[in-house]
Amino acid sequence: GDELLKGFADRLSNCVRSGDTVSRHGGDEFVIVLKDILQSTHVGVICENIFRSIAEPFHILGHKIHTTCSIGIALYPQDGQDAETLSKFADMALYRAKDLGRGNFQFFSSEMNQRTLERVTLESALRSAIANDQLYMHYQPLVDLHSGKVISLEALLRWKHPELGMVSPDRFISVAEESGLIGSIGEWVLQRACQDIRRWLDHGLNAVRVAVNVSPKQFRDARLGDKIEAVLQSYDIAPRMLTLEITETVLMQDTASSEATLRQLKSLGVSLALDDFGTGYSSLSYLKRFPFDRVKIDRAFVRDIINDTDDAALCKTIITMAHSLGIMVIAEGVESEEQCAFLRTNMCDEIQGYLFSRPLPTWEIEELLREQRCLPHHLLGTKKQQRCMMIVDQLEPSDMLAVAHLLVNDDVRILSAHTGAQALDLLSQHRVDMVAIRSALPDMDSLALQRSVQSRHPEVAVYVIN
Ligand code: C2E
Ligand code: CA
Ligand code: CA
Repeated sequence: GDELLKGFADRLSNCVRSGDTVSRHGGDEFVIVLKDILQSTHVGVICENIFRSIAEPFHILGHKIHTTCSIGIALYPQDGQDAETLSKFADMALYRAKDLGRGNFQFFSSEMNQRTLERVTLESALRSAIANDQLYMHYQPLVDLHSGKVISLEALLRWKHPELGMVSPDRFISVAEESGLIGSIGEWVLQRACQDIRRWLDHGLNAVRVAVNVSPKQFRDARLGDKIEAVLQSYDIAPRMLTLEITETVLMQDTASSEATLRQLKSLGVSLALDDFGTGYSSLSYLKRFPFDRVKIDRAFVRDIINDTDDAALCKTIITMAHSLGIMVIAEGVESEEQCAFLRTNMCDEIQGYLFSRPLPTWEIEELLREQRCLPHHLLGTKKQQRCMMIVDQLEPSDMLAVAHLLVNDDVRILSAHTGAQALDLLSQHRVDMVAIRSALPDMDSLALQRSVQSRHPEVAVYVIN
């Protein structure tokens, strides 16, 4: 008996984190104290781990012994404020768990039971969603604020379950993340997006770039780059047709390794967008470290740009700063003409939102591409075309911002490059009127860069500044 209790206690200890407490309170009753629980569903996950761990038989003095257990749960602070109340309520929950039969857990509050049950139901339904053909894609267009044309599409996953109905990605993506299902779902999305791009190219549609969302777990998968490369190759798609959207919060967790991963992905030739920008509280100069081509200003800031002066100022700053680093800006969740006008006046490059189009099923997107539907003319403004100047120098972002401020009133857009190679890369993507090169560049002679720009882009004025 003592050996069994010891073995049992060991397994419990292995199911919790180092700061948690496992103790025995007489007989065969154990008490586990879990610290810093952010979501009740995490407790459910730990319970499942415990059940799995003790399902393995114990080998004691040549005997094979099987055990089971029941678990009752009380949560601080909602169920009780002190240890005595919490342990009394956990005990009551334990009796209910035992009533349900061995190998069950119960929360003290019925609401928690409901929520945990829902999550478990969702997870098991999601497990068979791919096999049962319940997943499909919607695409939402992103339009260029200068030309009004659709320049890319964001792939957004949809799930329709026969009993649960439409489940929103805001609900099921987090379940997929926690349960590890995101790996296969993410691969499915990538595969499907490439398949659609291939079909559009084959049908001679005005095919545009497609952006796919990459979740934090996918991003940390060391084989992500290889997987992307393989899918692109199997559908014979140029890497530049694909954008990966990565949220700001992902980068803040482990900056150095995130930077390395992003550079590796970038080297495949795909384009990178920083999603939900502004929600992660990272500083703007942070952007410089990472090789992003675009940032997407989060919907939360775009919503109130007309009425909230703080949000308006934030959006303007993001746009100026990103441009000074040679990064394009997309505003998400643009619903009204007023928002669109504000963004256009403040040099935002692209918009995405219900104003132009909701996310649409493939056949409707195909129709939209075929008709070459554009943003209506009156939303584009009649202003003369904005001038664009590129500075090739190793300025810090704050200095670049200062330069940009001097010129922004003259309606000049600033792009910056730190190396000759970067300058040529930017020139192939943007319409630039003038290039100013500072003499000392790390990778090439400034006069060689000047010649190279002049031969490739004779319309651009190039100056070397000593
Ligand atoms: P997100 O990446 O920020 O996607 C944009 C969301 O904003 C979409 O919600 C879109 O329908 C919604 N939206 C677009 N324009 C407007 C607008 O004008 N007004 C309002 N109120 N909303 C607008 P959706 O499709 O429900 O997706 C929610 C989130 O789920 C996405 O946010 C993304 O984080 C995640 N998600 C969706 N599909 C995938 C996927 O394939 N993989 C991963 N990892 N996450 C996905
Ligand atoms: Ca996104
Ligand atoms: Ca977003």
